[in-house]
Amino acid sequence: MAEPNTNTNSLNDQPKGTRKRIGGPTESTPPEPGSGSGSGSTSGVPCGACKFLRRRCVDGCIFAPHFSPEQGTALFAAVHKVFGASNVSKLLMQLPLHLRRHAVETISYEAQARLSDPVCGCVSIIIALQQQVQSSKFQSKIVSEI
Ligand SMILES: [Zn+2]
Repeated sequence: MAEPNTNTNSLNDQPKGTRKRIGGPTESTPPEPGSGSGSGSTSGVPCGACKFLRRRCVDGCIFAPHFSPEQGTALFAAVHKVFGASNVSKLLMQLPLHLRRHAVETISYEAQARLSDPVCGCVSIIIALQQQVQSSKFQSKIVSEI
C-alpha cells in the first residue's frame, strides 16, 4: 500500500513499519550496519526484491510494498528472471499508486506461468479453463435435455 502518513490524528491506520511489537512472536531482525541514515526508523529488513538483488532497501523502495521479506523473495526471483528488475521498476514508476498492486499481481502471475511453461505462459492456463467451460456447457446441456 501507500507510505504511511505522519499524521498523528489517524487512530485507525497505524503505520506498520514504525511500530515495535513487545512480546510478539520471535522475529529475525538482524542488525544492519550503517543504517543510521535518515530519521525515519525503518525496520532495517530489506524487502523481498532488495533481498534477492542483495542491495540496500531504501526508503520509498518501489518494490517494498509488493514483495514482502518472507515470501516476496521467491516471487521476485521469478519476476526478475522473466521480465528483469529494471523493466519492472520502470513499469511500476509509470503507474499511479493504486494500480501498482494489480500490475505486480499480473506480472507475478505471468512470470510464474512463463517459468512453468516457457512456450505458452499463462495462455496454456487460459486454454485449459476454456476447455473446462466448454465441457461444463456440454454437460449442462445434456442434463437439461433429460
Ligand atoms: Zn526494497
